[in-house]
Formats: sequence, structure tokens, C-alpha cells
Amino acid sequence: MNVAGTIDGGLSLWIKDVAGKELVVHQHSGYPGEDVPEASASASTQLNMQSGDSTEALQGFCHCGTVRFHVTRPNDSSRLPTSNMADLMVPYHTGSSEIKNPHDLKWWLQPEDALVPTRYLAGTCACRSCRLISGFEIQTWAFIPRSNIIFHIADTSNAGAGPKDLGKARLMPLDFSTLPEGILRSYESSPGVLRESCVKCGATVFWHDKWRPDLIDVSVGLLDAPEGARAEEWLKWWKARVSFSEDVSNGRSGMVAAHAKALVESLERGLKG
Ligand SMILES: [Zn+2]
Ligand SMILES: [Zn+2]
Repeated sequence: MNVAGTIDGGLSLWIKDVAGKELVVHQHSGYPGEDVPEASASASTQLNMQSGDSTEALQGFCHCGTVRFHVTRPNDSSRLPTSNMADLMVPYHTGSSEIKNPHDLKWWLQPEDALVPTRYLAGTCACRSCRLISGFEIQTWAFIPRSNIIFHIADTSNAGAGPKDLGKARLMPLDFSTLPEGILRSYESSPGVLRESCVKCGATVFWHDKWRPDLIDVSVGLLDAPEGARAEEWLKWWKARVSFSEDVSNGRSGMVAAHAKALVESLERGLKG
């Protein structure tokens, strides 16, 4: 696994082997002879749990820079959405009465028992729909209230800016109904369920549905946290389950299905430590 650019090793921290074969972790620069083992992947990120400054922002952008936004720390508005539990926490295949979140838990705010939550819940998904749309076996999602996602609408005179150069941009809280054309492409993967990607580079950006309009799944790969790809100063990763892990072989068979199952099982083992 090549973890170059992840700083913290990304998901390699939790995937040690696949079907008994040890996973070799590299940071490959792209140049021959510059393939070095990643030493820091297993070192846990030093967390600054004091961080809760409401003016802080976590930048997010896609590969080409067309999609740019920032995420703010949880605030009063972050408690307003209501939502079913995530499949991560209460597997939907169980049909449990807890799926409907009868106690209206604000589970996306973390730590869950904190008076002032400073982070959002994040998790991994192995559902067929995520897989077919992203082209990857595992999709990472952070659950973030819409009110904490602020879009940067590029000034057209600054069109040549790179992905990190936010330049002059108009800031606009995420509202799918008023977001200008030419940024996101929406795809209704099932009735009422929308997935957004960048119109230009195709990066996976959001998942949301009409029953839960104010809580959005944000693709973690877009987030640019200084501490690394897992953004652990901002996200708390759910360790007990890979979402829809039972869906991993859905629609495929033989070696491909077996290998994918082994990968997801390894991730689940790694997450549980
Ligand atoms: Zn999924
Ligand atoms: Zn893009």
C-alpha cells in the first residue's frame, strides 16, 4: 500500500494483512529507487484534545480544486439535525428498533459524552453502492452537519488557482439548492439518495438523502488536516464495524469476492485492535 502524502499512514494503520499475506506499506514518491517503508504509519497521531476553537477550519478540496469547502468545529447548530443511527453503529440488516434512533442521539458529535463535542464521527463503508461509484473497495465517510460545511465559490478571475490556493472566494454555507452550477454532479443512486462528485475530476464528495437533509456524509479523502489523512484532530473513527461489511461479496463471486472479503475482514480486525 502506498501511503505517500497521507502523513499518518491513512487506513494502512488498520490493514496489516490480506488473506494471510502481510501488507507492505510504502511511501512511493513516483521516482525509481525512492520507495521507502513508512515508519510513522503505526505511530498514533498525537491528539490535541484541547482544540475546540470555533474559529478553526478544516479545509477540504478535490484533486482539481473545483470543489472547495471548509468544515467548522461542532457548535449549537450541529445538534439540530435528526437522523437514524448509522449502519456503522446499528447494522441495518439486524432490523433493530434502535436503527430509528428513538432517543434522538446526536451520534455524529464526538466524543459522545462530552459537554462540548469537538469532533465528528467517521467510518469506513464497504457497501456495493459506494464501491461501484467510487471504484474502491472501501469508502471513508465523515458525518458532518450541513451547517458546518462552508463552500468556497471561486472567483472566476482566479480560475488558474491551484487546489490549495483558495484565493478570493465567496463563502456560502452548503445548500444544494443554491450551489452554483459547474461544481458538483449529483447522482441518485437509489430513490431519495444522492451522491455528489466533482464535475471535473470526478472525486467522490458527498452522500446525503432526502430524509436526513441536514446531516451529510463527507468523503474523508478531500479533507486536508495537517495531522494527516485520518484527520484525527477533527474525526473520531468508529472502530467496531465496517459499514455494510456483509455487502462486500454482493454482486460478485469467486476469487474477486473472496479477496475483497479478506480485505474488509482485515480492516475490521485492525479497527478493533
Ligand atoms: Zn456505502
Ligand atoms: Zn475536482
